[in-house]
Amino acid sequence: MSNVISDIEVVGKSINRRMIRNVWQRLFRNKPLPTIWALRVSPQEFQRVWLALDEHNRKSGDAMCTARAMIREHGGLVVPSAGVCKVQGGYLVLVRTDSAWPLVHDLEHELGHIARGEV
Ligand SMILES: [Zn+2]
Repeated sequence: MSNVISDIEVVGKSINRRMIRNVWQRLFRNKPLPTIWALRVSPQEFQRVWLALDEHNRKSGDAMCTARAMIREHGGLVVPSAGVCKVQGGYLVLVRTDSAWPLVHDLEHELGHIARGEV
């Protein structure tokens, strides 16, 4: 399945919107749920998309994350299990298919960054 987000094509499986809404309402019920695209992607796709967003950001400035920032945040790990980026009209959350964490844990972590305004 392929999705086009902020001009970037992402190949992955969409994460159920109800799951996103449930996590958000449980943890951040006082804040309105923003538009969030969340997908499970292969490790290779994860790497590719983040580098593409980094490049896109250099050209247009509307994707507010960089591969470098993600690497810094995750203590030098080149490939964290999940990540979030502000894109045109919302946020993009990618979770690697080989993440060692339960999906809900990765979502709680990444949605937390959105709720706290860290992206
Ligand atoms: Zn994080």
